[in-house]
Amino acid sequence: MRVAVIGAGIVGVTSAFELASDGHQVTVFERRGSVAEETSFANAGVMAPGYVSPWAAPGLPAKLLRQLLSRHAPVRLAWPMAAGQLGWMWRWWRACQAPIYATHRERMVRLARYSQQRLQHLRLELQLEHEQSSGYLVLLRRAQELKGARTHLKLLAELGVKFHLLDGTQARLIDPGLNPDLALHAAVHLPDAEVGNCRQFAHLLRGQAQALGAVFRFNRSVDRIDAGSQPLLTHCGTASAEAPQQEAFDAVLVCAALGSPALLRPLGLRLPLLAVHGYSISAPLRQLDSFPDLGPRSGVMDEQYKVAISRLGQRVRVAGSAELGGRLDRMHAATLNTLHKVLDDWYPGCAQWAQAQRWKGARPMLPDGPPVLGPSGAPGVWLNLGHGSSGWALSCGSARVLADQIAGRAPMIDVSGLDRARLSG
Ligand SMILES: Cc1cc2nc3c(=O)[nH]c(=O)nc-3n(C[C@H](O)[C@H](O)[C@H](O)COP(=O)(O)OP(=O)(O)OC[C@H]3O[C@@H](n4cnc5c(N)ncnc54)[C@H](O)[C@@H]3O)c2cc1C
Repeated sequence: MRVAVIGAGIVGVTSAFELASDGHQVTVFERRGSVAEETSFANAGVMAPGYVSPWAAPGLPAKLLRQLLSRHAPVRLAWPMAAGQLGWMWRWWRACQAPIYATHRERMVRLARYSQQRLQHLRLELQLEHEQSSGYLVLLRRAQELKGARTHLKLLAELGVKFHLLDGTQARLIDPGLNPDLALHAAVHLPDAEVGNCRQFAHLLRGQAQALGAVFRFNRSVDRIDAGSQPLLTHCGTASAEAPQQEAFDAVLVCAALGSPALLRPLGLRLPLLAVHGYSISAPLRQLDSFPDLGPRSGVMDEQYKVAISRLGQRVRVAGSAELGGRLDRMHAATLNTLHKVLDDWYPGCAQWAQAQRWKGARPMLPDGPPVLGPSGAPGVWLNLGHGSSGWALSCGSARVLADQIAGRAPMIDVSGLDRARLSG
């Protein structure tokens, strides 16, 4: 089949690879000049299936309201408000009910586990190196945080996720770079979780997809999809003024994240996708012979500030914040200060700040949590989008699921509830 993939973020690239490895003729359309130029550019790189869960969680609305005005609030409302933001918040609030949360969480964890298996398989088979490291530590500064984490730990046990609850001393043996002077009440260690460079993986997998015949057309924006047995794409150049072109395919897969609603609205599909902004700072690690353990061994999460710190080769990346509304090209200084503070708290002096890169990205968030995978309802048009805060962790599995569905095969995991039907109403 001739299959068009729209979008070359991590979701589009993994999809292109899986489709090409099934023998399809794949053409990827990307409005940017390369792969992973938008949200997949500088995320935290954490792949911890046990911690992949909806942001619509019981008790969260009240907790966020309490924190909203605090100096280091993990969530903030910014101006201007995004189109559809209030409606999205209403749907998010409704999805915070315990039974809805539990259902979505179970679906997300299942997909995340499958995804990690698929990533590990590809890494081994294709010999990919993407600055990966193993293990994830969730740091609980105070007894109160451990109390709050108990329900989550119970769920991890029920799901069969391997974890160890450690005290501060034990945690420091796992990650000797942790500041010995900072109070650490406890930590949850997930030895099977991992960290990796999402953007680097996208570049490597793009090469593999090309070797299988996939064609990447950069600087091309898709403006319109006409559904049908031979769906038609209208696309035009973004780097130079050219007349729009039309091309027919046997199937079109939309992986355009926040670019998707505009493409799908004319087909009668209204997606409640919201840009939830986040920030990261990446900096080279200082090299000191006298202190080889500078910086994290792999990934850590500061539960109080909801900030992740990851090691990516010889760099450290600190990431966090959820900003609703606001603009992608406007950095909020206080949020960057929080990231600096958390990194300096745990790994003082490890980063060469003068060479730091600051980045702001927009998570493609659906209000209830899981992404949308499968047929769009319009003939010939398929969906792989809305991966929110876990697109890296869910990408390889989502891509394999889509390739199986497009080939008419049953996916290897149960994907019920991940289709578009749940978004109606
Ligand atoms: C601060 C931060 C930290 C994060 N940390 C993690 C983490 O630790 N683990 C994790 O799993 N996830 C994390 N995420 C989330 C993850 O980065 C995203 O879920 C993921 O990158 C989404 O991938 P995507 O391919 O769907 O979107 P994108 O990477 O945004 O790709 C979509 C692509 O589609 C293209 N496009 C859009 N419209 C069109 C069009 N009309 N024509 C042509 N091209 C088009 C865009 O140019 C873009 O390249 C984080 C996100 C942020 C912001």
